[in-house]
Amino acid sequence: MAVRQVAVLGATGSIGGSTLDVIARHPDRFRASILAANRDSAGLAALCARFRPDLAIVADPAMEADLARRLAAAGVRCEVASGADAVTAAASGPLCDAVVAAIVGAAGLDSTLAAARAGKRLLLANKESIVMAGALLLEALREGGGDLIPIDSEHNAIFQCLPGGRPDLGRAGVRRIILTASGGPFRGRTRAELGKITPGEACAHPKWSMGRKISVDSATLMNKGLEVIEAHHLFAAPVDAIEVVVHPQSLVHSLVDYVDGSVLAQLGNPDMRTAIACALAWPERIEAGVAPLDLAAHARLDFETPDTDTFRCLALAFAALREGGDATAILNAANEVAVDAFLAGTLPFLGIAEIVERVLAELPAQPVVDVQTLVARDDEARRAARGVLHRAYC
Ligand code: NAD
Ligand code: MG
Repeated sequence: MAVRQVAVLGATGSIGGSTLDVIARHPDRFRASILAANRDSAGLAALCARFRPDLAIVADPAMEADLARRLAAAGVRCEVASGADAVTAAASGPLCDAVVAAIVGAAGLDSTLAAARAGKRLLLANKESIVMAGALLLEALREGGGDLIPIDSEHNAIFQCLPGGRPDLGRAGVRRIILTASGGPFRGRTRAELGKITPGEACAHPKWSMGRKISVDSATLMNKGLEVIEAHHLFAAPVDAIEVVVHPQSLVHSLVDYVDGSVLAQLGNPDMRTAIACALAWPERIEAGVAPLDLAAHARLDFETPDTDTFRCLALAFAALREGGDATAILNAANEVAVDAFLAGTLPFLGIAEIVERVLAELPAQPVVDVQTLVARDDEARRAARGVLHRAYC
């Protein structure tokens, strides 16, 4: 069996770390041939010393010399590159067979599209790229002829519960896709109680340890909203066939409801290595380092309806998906700006939904034509979001 060469884009992040942990358990099957990060040259150099890739890339060109110096000092011989174009070129180039798309935010779009177009096995964690450019990404996948296996735990669960992973839902007899949500750290709170939330509190997720942006998205329920949009594209699911249920234990990762009344669920401890190992080895199963699920010790599985009056981002995501066109790209861009401002301390927690709502109202949806137009609309939405932020909060 040939060793699969894996590009880990976003190697220094939470998903990147979990991916490298799984790869390290199976040196006979996988090798991290490309490692890419934003600007943490020290973190990336340390990973290179351990994993010995062929190529290391920092997106920020200002950090390239520092990365090269650190690698030389550690006696690591690998190619060094920098810039967003280098990341995109590597994702479609000859040094990898599979690409783990684990860059956070719209910054992951180009490399994700490039990997799809080049027919790599695409392990998709970067949900923002499919939220922005769902139809274009699916077209790129068809063009490239490779597989996409979702790493987002909910979508990976659905993938596992569907015959063949991504069938025509109607013909497969699927009635609904049910996405579970932990509810985040503020489940059960009222709007009045959310006024003074700090970034530290928002990032303290009760069940999952993740990067800061997705942690805030989980706290606002925008993460679930992005996942509804992601499910719509990945599984060709009509918006009315996607439901969200809050499940605070985070053991049931999502469910598929069939017309005969069967509901298939995928369960496991909340550890991203399960989804990553599944996507790396599919259709085989490999050890992921995840503890066996002890159902008796957990004892209960609770489910409740999400409170979309308090957590308005989920309702906004459904509305953007219903609106169609590039509304979901506008939603994503406005959310990224708002989350950055919240993390920087210039926007209150409840202001995130307000900014997204105002930007969606300011920029009615337009049809998606191509990536260039979409990126221009992403820019326009970011400018609009900064405008709202400035007028309302500075
Ligand atoms: P993180 O913040 O921990 O890591 C982000 C990584 O992206 C870092 O390695 C960073 O250096 C890199 N990066 C950021 N901007 C970049 C740029 N412009 N160019 C190149 N690299 C860049 O985030 P994370 O929690 O690992 O999440 C990554 C993605 O996976 C997000 O889209 C998130 O929604 C998705 N995801 C994460 C989890 C999770 O459990 N962490 C679960 C499901 C989906
Ligand atoms: Mg998820």
